[in-house]
Amino acid sequence: MNDTITLALSKGRIFDETLPLLKAAGIEVLEDPEKSRKLILPTNQPGVRVVLVRATDVPTYVEHGGADLGVTGKDTLIEHGGQGLYQPLDLRIARCRVSVAVRADFDYATAVRQGSRLRVATKYTTIARDFFATKGVHVDLIKLYGSMELAPLTGLADAIVDLVSTGNTLKANQLVEVERIMDISSRLVVNQASLKLKQARLRPLLDAFAAATAQEPRT
Ligand code: AMP
Repeated sequence: MNDTITLALSKGRIFDETLPLLKAAGIEVLEDPEKSRKLILPTNQPGVRVVLVRATDVPTYVEHGGADLGVTGKDTLIEHGGQGLYQPLDLRIARCRVSVAVRADFDYATAVRQGSRLRVATKYTTIARDFFATKGVHVDLIKLYGSMELAPLTGLADAIVDLVSTGNTLKANQLVEVERIMDISSRLVVNQASLKLKQARLRPLLDAFAAATAQEPRT
């Protein structure tokens, strides 16, 4: 078991977009997480397995050695802090951006210009705190774990900081994107001890991921 390579992934976009990279490394996941309730998925390689964890738990699993490596968004990595993790590759998958959004009838530009104190609801408190501090805007951060779009609609907050991909979710909730904070993509993270102790097994995998990533179109 000690020689097994464990890869932590979260279900959904990251899992789906990591599959082609695994395939390029000769690894095929043998079960579909949407159809199975299993949390440990075997692959066609006896020494490689995938564990399914919540997106925000991927850095924690890798940091503490519950997994040797994992795939996680830059947003999640910043919020986690990245300590104890080697970050060799930007996989350039699951791309989106972190943005500020407000209700269409909220005059964000004027509020910022006048130095008003903004109530900002977000799951991404580190990113939001750094962004508004750099801008010199005073904010009261309200930590949420989901459905951020609801906060301005119910009067809980003036603004949200959230991930935006197509913008459809904002539009469906009559919110407008007023600032783009940063572009996001998923990163490969590796446990630092595994990198040393399982070097021989991990290196070909990292090289295959790097080669497959280099072939992705740069958009
Ligand atoms: P969209 O409607 O395409 O702009 O997507 C926005 C919704 O999807 C928001 O609820 C986001 O939190 C979520 N989302 C978008 N991109 C990602 C991503 N790369 N990873 C996780 N969640 C995402």
